[in-house]
Amino acid sequence: MKQTYFANSIVTIKKELLDELLLGCNNAYPNEFFALLASDSKKAIDAYVVVPLFYQTENSVSYRTDLLPLGFSIAGSIHSHPGASNRPSNADLHSFSKQGSCHFIVGYPYKLENIACYDGYGKRVQISVV
Ligand SMILES: [Zn+2]
Repeated sequence: MKQTYFANSIVTIKKELLDELLLGCNNAYPNEFFALLASDSKKAIDAYVVVPLFYQTENSVSYRTDLLPLGFSIAGSIHSHPGASNRPSNADLHSFSKQGSCHFIVGYPYKLENIACYDGYGKRVQISVV
């Protein structure tokens, strides 16, 4: 069976990448950190781009895809919450459904155990760190 970064409700992500992203969350605190994720190898999520995030309304969150490098294909996203909750808001769920198959939310204090991942439908998926 072909191995991909996302199969059987398990998403695979590189440890080094995750460490960098957690650092980004810490640095952005108390503001929200947001990045789009990609999988260059197709075996694990191994690339990201930090993009400005803006809320159009309470229920709609948006980002600038025109800032992405050429050829960047969006696998999913990661963003931090300033509080301990890593559950998606209504705005999060709406944005998850638009693009990508795995969306990470990191609750404060941004350790490995504070990370949750959801698919495009908002269903929780397991994380495999490699
Ligand atoms: Zn959120």
